[in-house]
Amino acid sequence: MTTPACLHDAAPAQSATATRPTVLLIVGTRPEAIKMLPVIMAFRDRGRFTPVVVSTGQHARMVREVLALGGIRPDVEFDELTGRRSLNGLFAHVTGEMDAWLRSTFGDAPGAAGFPVAALVHGDTTSAAAAAVACFHAQIPVAHVEAGLRTGDTSSPFPEEMNRRLIGRIAAMHFAPTTTNLDNLLREGVTPDRVVVTGNTAIDALMWVSRLHVPYSDEHVAAATEVERTDAPVIVVTAHRRESWGEGLVNIGRGIRRIAELYPHARIVLPLHPNPAVSETLGGILSGVPNVLLTAPLDYAEFARLLGRASLVITDSGGVQEEAPALGVPVLVTRETTERIEGVVAGTLELVGTDPDAIVAAARRLLDDAELYAERTRRVNPYGDGTAAQRIAEACEHALLEGCERVPALVA
Ligand code: UDP
Repeated sequence: MTTPACLHDAAPAQSATATRPTVLLIVGTRPEAIKMLPVIMAFRDRGRFTPVVVSTGQHARMVREVLALGGIRPDVEFDELTGRRSLNGLFAHVTGEMDAWLRSTFGDAPGAAGFPVAALVHGDTTSAAAAAVACFHAQIPVAHVEAGLRTGDTSSPFPEEMNRRLIGRIAAMHFAPTTTNLDNLLREGVTPDRVVVTGNTAIDALMWVSRLHVPYSDEHVAAATEVERTDAPVIVVTAHRRESWGEGLVNIGRGIRRIAELYPHARIVLPLHPNPAVSETLGGILSGVPNVLLTAPLDYAEFARLLGRASLVITDSGGVQEEAPALGVPVLVTRETTERIEGVVAGTLELVGTDPDAIVAAARRLLDDAELYAERTRRVNPYGDGTAAQRIAEACEHALLEGCERVPALVA
C-alpha cells in the first residue's frame, strides 16, 4: 500500500480556507485528451480546485472534439507549430508558449494568490515532457498521470521512453496505473509515499463514453449490432500491428473467416486500419463474407459503444487489450507476446498468436461453453475499475488542501 505525500516539499499546503486553488491540467494529443477527460471532469465535479485546462496545440482540433464529449473547453490553447515539426522544435515551441502564458497569466511569484499549486501532465509525449519542464522552471509542482510505464529501452518507443523518464524525474507525485508501474518507479528511486496506484484513466474514459450511446455514423454498424445479444454474438476484430504485417495478418484474416463460416449467425465487425498493408490484406480475405462487416476506423465514442455490445474481441491492439475487459468482454490476443502481461495473469486476456487454427479453437471454446464464457467475463481487469480519475483528484486534494494530515487508503 502507498499513500500520497505533499506534492511539493517547498510549498506549504494551502489552508482549507483558501478558495479553490488553481490546478493546471495539460493535454496535447488526442489520446492524452481521452485519458485526461475523466480527470478534468473529476476536478470540475468535486469543486475543490479551479481546474485550468491547457491544450498545447499538438492536436488542437481533435483535443477540442474529445473534451467536448464531457462539456469541457480548453481554457487556453497554444498556437499549432507550423512547418516541419522536429522534436526539438516541438519541445522549444511548447516550453516557450507555456512560459509566456504562465508569466502573463500568473506572474512569476510562486505562492502568490491564484498561482497554480500543481500541474498534471499525462503520459509520454514530447509536449507533455516540455510542459513538465516549463512548469518545473516556473516552480509549479508537477504530477504525472499514467506514470511508471517503462520498456527499459530508450530507443523504443522513441522518444516516449525518455519522455516518461524525464517527467518521472521532475514529478513530485506519480499516478501509476498498476503495481508493475509502481515497481518501476521504486526501482528508479522514487519513494513510495510519492506514488499512488490508481488504475488507468483510459478505463474511466471508456466506461463513461460507452454509456453515452452516441449514434453510429455508419448505418451498417448500427444494423450489425442491433441484433439481440442472445440471438447473435457480436465479435469485434482489430488488427494493425506492424509485426503482424504479411503472413501474420493473412493468418489472422483466415482465422476470422473460418469463425464467420462456423458461426453464420454471428456478426463480425472489423474497423479496418487505413494503412494499405492492413486494409488490402484483410479486405482481400474477408470482403464478401456475409456476416463480416469491414468498416472505416470508428470514432472513439462509437468504438467504445461497439465494445460495450461485443461478446468477444479478437485484437492485436495494445489499448483494446486494456479496454475491452473493463466492459466484461473476453479478449483473444493475436500476438505471440504482449506487454500487457498483467491481463494474461488475471485471465482477462488469452494470448493466441496468429495461427488460424489456434484463433479458431480459442474462439470456439468461448462461444460454445457458456460456463467458461461467464467465468472469463467475471475476471477483474488489472488496468482499472473506472475510478482512477477520482483517486487522482482525491490524492491531489489530500496532498494540496489537507496538508497530508489525513491519509486516505487509495491503494488496495
Ligand atoms: N479505437 C478507436 N476506433 C477504432 C479502433 C480503435 O477509437 O476503430 C481506439 C481504441 O478504443 C483504443 C485506441 O483506439 O483507445 C487503440 O488504438 P490502436 O489499436 O490503433 O493502437 P494501440 O493501442 O495498439 O497503440
